[in-house]
Amino acid sequence: MVRTRFAPSPTGYLHIGGARTALYSYLFARQQQGQFILRIEDTDLERSTSESVQAILDAMQWLNLQYDEGPYYQTQHFDRYRDVIADMLNAGTAYRCYCSKEHLEALRTEQMAAKQKPRYDGRCRHLQEAGEGAFVVRFKNPLEGVVEFDDLVRGTLRFANTELDDLIIARSDGTPTYNFTVVVDDWDMKITHVIRGDDHINNTPRQINILRALGATPPHYAHVPMILGSDGKRLSKRHGAVSVMQYREEGFLPEALLNYLARLGWSYGDQEIFSMAELVQFFNVNNISRSPAAFNPEKLLWLNQHYIKTGDPAHVANELAWHMEQVGIDANNGPTLVDLIAAQAERTKTLREMAEKSRYFYADVQLAGDMKAQFTPELMPVLKTVRDGLVNLPTWDKEAIHHVLQQAAEMHALKLGKFAPLVRIAMTGGTVSPPIDTTILLIGRERAVLRMDQAMLGVMSA
Ligand code: GLU
Repeated sequence: MVRTRFAPSPTGYLHIGGARTALYSYLFARQQQGQFILRIEDTDLERSTSESVQAILDAMQWLNLQYDEGPYYQTQHFDRYRDVIADMLNAGTAYRCYCSKEHLEALRTEQMAAKQKPRYDGRCRHLQEAGEGAFVVRFKNPLEGVVEFDDLVRGTLRFANTELDDLIIARSDGTPTYNFTVVVDDWDMKITHVIRGDDHINNTPRQINILRALGATPPHYAHVPMILGSDGKRLSKRHGAVSVMQYREEGFLPEALLNYLARLGWSYGDQEIFSMAELVQFFNVNNISRSPAAFNPEKLLWLNQHYIKTGDPAHVANELAWHMEQVGIDANNGPTLVDLIAAQAERTKTLREMAEKSRYFYADVQLAGDMKAQFTPELMPVLKTVRDGLVNLPTWDKEAIHHVLQQAAEMHALKLGKFAPLVRIAMTGGTVSPPIDTTILLIGRERAVLRMDQAMLGVMSA
């Protein structure tokens, strides 16, 4: 059975590069009716924080990338790592190295001076007796031959063993090192496919060698190229949001971000919009591009608006409710969010923008001086007609409201364009809103009439 894993180190928020490899691992597992595992690689005690763990879990939940197992925590596997190290020492696939810092530094200086790649010289590899003092444990990397593997993205990759030195697998305090814990966990967790960022590509031959020394069959590997900013440099904070949850804060829907990340560096014909079911069906590791992909914020915005317009209204409303709260709007004090979304979806690309531009539906409006100034006395009669028409409407629907405006225009021989902007200002305090009839409809009769009164009163008292 296919088993994939996402193995973030909790040293910060979940960034979108990580989310993309998580998504690919998830999609592949789902497609193959396999299992997707979440493993928190928290052995770097100095840099790992519980806030980061929580941030990762929150982001996985928001993205709805459900895992079948985990979260596993590497810090809970220390006994197991210790046992495997002991086994390797017994089997002679690892050895204790007593070399002092000074020796290693001198070695390094020498090698650098000779323009050689700095690497451990294997001095303790053949020690017959235990040395003295502190030691680290090193893996006995094969001295010759090549490590070859078929990367599912990159094709066949080869590394000469002479390029790989004897990796430290346990520090002098006994704690295991990164490449070793990954190996033990991938082995124990029966991972069949490792999909991860290509910044790990140089770790792979080392990990394969250790797996082989343990008698394990290495998994398949797929190394995904990094994400670049629009300037061709590695994506970083300089380019804008990089954390998944910041995208939430900026008003993106998880579906939009997932669709965007799936397509970023992977393609299926010319198709741009994919439901989750389609992604599961069509995703193919072999179609991941070998070259880095550039992040395109415009396209993400476009997708976001698409999902705002077409997504399950209840789900979009749920996400919008969070934003309304964030910007301090009481969403219970006005139209339903589903109605609001229908009215605003064409006009806003993010839910944050929608929340910010919808305050007048839920809270009182104050007319600023320049807005008040537009209510000239000669327009009062037609505004009064509109106001009375709204009061007397037998049914409160869009057509009826439209009819009130139309009739007022006829009665006063004015074009709608002459006074509708004022009605809009009265309703919203500003000049931009959904079509005026929809705006009035959603504001509700009582409030709409009150706002007309307020606006006209302002003129009379001026
Ligand atoms: N913990 C590693 C990281 O966050 C990932 C290791 C892996 O996927 O093998 O970069």
